[in-house]
Amino acid sequence: MDSPRVEKDEARPTPSMPVRFLKGVGPARAAVFAQLGVNTVADLLEYFPRDWIFAPPSVKIDSLRPGQTASIIGMVESTDYQSFRRTPMFEAMLSDETGLCRIVWFHGGYLQKQLRPGQIIMASGKVTLYRHQLQMTNPKFLVLDEHHARADEFFSGGVYPATAALGSRRIKRIIRPLLDSLDCLVNELHDEDFLKKNRLVGRKDAFAWIHLPPDEKKLGLAKRRLKYDELFLMQLGLALRRFRMRHFADATPFRCTETTDRRIRRRFPFLLTEDQDGCIAEIVADMSASKPMNRLLQGDVGSGKTVVALYAALLAVANKTQVAIMAPTEILASQHFLSIERYLKGSDVKRALITGGLTGKKRTQLLDEISQGAVDIVVGTVALLEQDIEFQNLGLVVIDEQHKFGVEQRARIRKRTTPHCLVMTATPIPRTLAMTAFGDLDVSVIRRCPPGRGAVITRRVDRRDRPRAYDFIRERLRAKKQAYFVYPRISGLEQDSDVLAATDEWKNLSANVFPEFTVELLHGRMPSARKQQIMSDFRKGKIDVLVSTVVVEVGLDVPNATIMVVEEADRFGLAQLHQLRGRIGRGQSKSYCLLFAEAESEIAASRLEIMTRSSDGFEIAEHDLRLRGPGEMFSTRQHGLPDLKIANIIEDYELLLMARKHAFELVEKDPMLAEPDHKNIRRALLEKFGDSLGLADVA
Ligand code: ADP
Ligand code: MG
Repeated sequence: MDSPRVEKDEARPTPSMPVRFLKGVGPARAAVFAQLGVNTVADLLEYFPRDWIFAPPSVKIDSLRPGQTASIIGMVESTDYQSFRRTPMFEAMLSDETGLCRIVWFHGGYLQKQLRPGQIIMASGKVTLYRHQLQMTNPKFLVLDEHHARADEFFSGGVYPATAALGSRRIKRIIRPLLDSLDCLVNELHDEDFLKKNRLVGRKDAFAWIHLPPDEKKLGLAKRRLKYDELFLMQLGLALRRFRMRHFADATPFRCTETTDRRIRRRFPFLLTEDQDGCIAEIVADMSASKPMNRLLQGDVGSGKTVVALYAALLAVANKTQVAIMAPTEILASQHFLSIERYLKGSDVKRALITGGLTGKKRTQLLDEISQGAVDIVVGTVALLEQDIEFQNLGLVVIDEQHKFGVEQRARIRKRTTPHCLVMTATPIPRTLAMTAFGDLDVSVIRRCPPGRGAVITRRVDRRDRPRAYDFIRERLRAKKQAYFVYPRISGLEQDSDVLAATDEWKNLSANVFPEFTVELLHGRMPSARKQQIMSDFRKGKIDVLVSTVVVEVGLDVPNATIMVVEEADRFGLAQLHQLRGRIGRGQSKSYCLLFAEAESEIAASRLEIMTRSSDGFEIAEHDLRLRGPGEMFSTRQHGLPDLKIANIIEDYELLLMARKHAFELVEKDPMLAEPDHKNIRRALLEKFGDSLGLADVA
């Protein structure tokens, strides 16, 4: 830091200095700041205004024109409070060397204590003509003293997110002096050529202007620069994480010969789709390298991910290594196991399912076999497989995350650097998010489902059309098709509101709407055995209509069920609607998704509109992200990255792409950020990410 001489009693601020030591901040305000997430001077500089006001620069009184919005500076000649009026009014006469202007504030009684003749004030507001006299009504004003030498700045500038205990003006007053010390608080990250080429202003200017913008243009430039930096540092963190993964870890490179490929494909009773082949090619390329694969495989439920993962697993087995397949729940683990069993019937690949129910001797025996390499493929829950199971030679880990982004799991798996890793998710992750949350993973996507499936038609149904919809469903039921009716959890009401709603509706449907059919109820609060029974009956076709809460989301695969009715569909998010709809359209015949909705909010309406228009999970996810904003669906902090304070990955997508490109190029050139030119970048990165990316040992 370049502060050769420190003033005796007033320490120069440094980025890491606690705000408590700043002028105007005592322990009480420091506590309020802490609640706002502001602990240090650096935090304070990044406590950006949420809005900006541009007051006009001050002018002389004789140039005022009625209708204009203006600021004037002058001396208070006289004041008068007229409390007797219907609307009490405080009046002041203001003079400068060019003239006199009357200023009134309605209900201005409180001003008697603030404004006195002889004071110099600045007033900013609308100029009117009242009885042939110029007048300013209810202007904002400021009593000028030595602290407000630059009066114009008072009105212009940031409006900070404030609390009752700490107002925006106060925050502004605390930040203001820091702007004079930016030289020792802010370091430039990029050289001048780079900035010029990318139309970025200097980092110091950006901080000065974001807090105290001279004009709107400079404010825009400041925002752009700060957003860029934020995105750049985030992407740099990801790029480094990825680089380290690639270069500091070794994996077994697999060989995939034509014979192996043919033998694996023979296991599948169908030709793989183009998308599946594409993903497999990417996976094979990864696994042929001596660096561990870190790949995310995305595709809707039923798109054929399991088949792709099994291909990878068999390739690992062909290369004499073991495979762990992890699912989030035991049900899903056993489903995976069953489908693997189907494909591997008659094969001599040894596979085992490990469950929580497996105890005692049997368990010990299985663990022994695994550690001796006698089992090739082990399927189980993440929880089970992460316990101290020892593999003799683990070559591949497959993690099925189903409907969430399980970054935690990734983090833990990461530490075992040796095995290749394939993460599967049925949640379509929009491109924008994939680039941030999973920015260090490679991504493969299955977009189109395997052939041989009936189309799904989605319609929105409102109250008027209900009887017709029921008629239509009745007709399908008579043709021996089955239907789901799903009820939302109604937020804000008691916990079991969904159960109540579903129960009521079940009674209504079975008694009044579909009396001639078998209508059953399924919800999460039922005893497990009863649930199993109902699901099994539905699968066998003994039940025509299954009324349920959203529990139906997981695990039911009934090709003959071709109707999905979602009640109060406007209460569901897009992602959830898409998943629900994924329950149908599994057989050959046409399916129908009917979205019952009555309430009419704009967002709900556009959600339903998207559902009726699109069946592409990625398109839907992208819309979801736009409608809800990234905050709700995805918090960067949740993913071990610092939250974004000013950039928005959707609105600033172009900047994100640019920052990403630069960050990855930089790591390519100087992976240790060791060059002197990159010193400030490295420091900023460490300040931002701390240890969360394991960067400390890079530094
Ligand atoms: P996911 O794991 O993505 O949910 P699966 O791999 O379980 O999907 O496949 C869903 C269904 O589609 C399974 O019944 C599977 O047998 C079938 N399937 C997968 N790939 C193909 C294909 N290429 N052609 C025909 N059917 C396929
Ligand atoms: Mg599956």
